[in-house]
Amino acid sequence: MNDQQIETRVGIEGVYGPYEAKLNPSKLWNGWVSPRFTLDTVRQLAKDTQEIAERDGFDCLETVHVIEGRADSPNSVHVIDGGTDSKGNPRQVIVHVRWPLMDESAERAVNIFGVRPGVHVEPTEPSGEGEPRAVVLCVDWPLWRGEDNGADQVTDVVEPDGEGRYMIGAWKWVWRIAWWWCACGQDNDWHVTDCESCDLTRDAQPQKSA
Ligand SMILES: [Zn+2]
Repeated sequence: MNDQQIETRVGIEGVYGPYEAKLNPSKLWNGWVSPRFTLDTVRQLAKDTQEIAERDGFDCLETVHVIEGRADSPNSVHVIDGGTDSKGNPRQVIVHVRWPLMDESAERAVNIFGVRPGVHVEPTEPSGEGEPRAVVLCVDWPLWRGEDNGADQVTDVVEPDGEGRYMIGAWKWVWRIAWWWCACGQDNDWHVTDCESCDLTRDAQPQKSA
């Protein structure tokens, strides 16, 4: 199996990016790539998804969330708000994290619950002084079907891979490799550093005067 990974940049046209990522350009889903991001990039992507959801509504996209904690923290409880459902009830995903289990797997450490309308859940922050740990979640709000089968079914806990990278939107989001325009008019994939139709390189483009 060809697992040729490259470092490049990806984006979703008109919505997200570009972000630095690693991916296998020959592994495509309907023509889209499946990028792997560092935790820092996931933090930026999470911020961007949440900003768009606040602006355009939670019915049009998945949001990404990073919950920061410590390996020795006591259990913590987090509330992720996702606007309202079709009846006007608030949609909330309750995330319960048992931090000491994070070193085994996020799947073991994290439990997802829904909450009935009118019930208030009080969040508790992580504490502790041990190694930093992070829980990465994707919430697919457009799939929400009600408080009983909403939260758990629309939330994915994303485990890091062996390199500590996270696949977000793999085989689902329409990620494509970002490109750069050469002064000669050729567009090149971001990781192609020598223009495919002239002698210029990505880093040695003539500067346009303003
Ligand atoms: Zn060129």
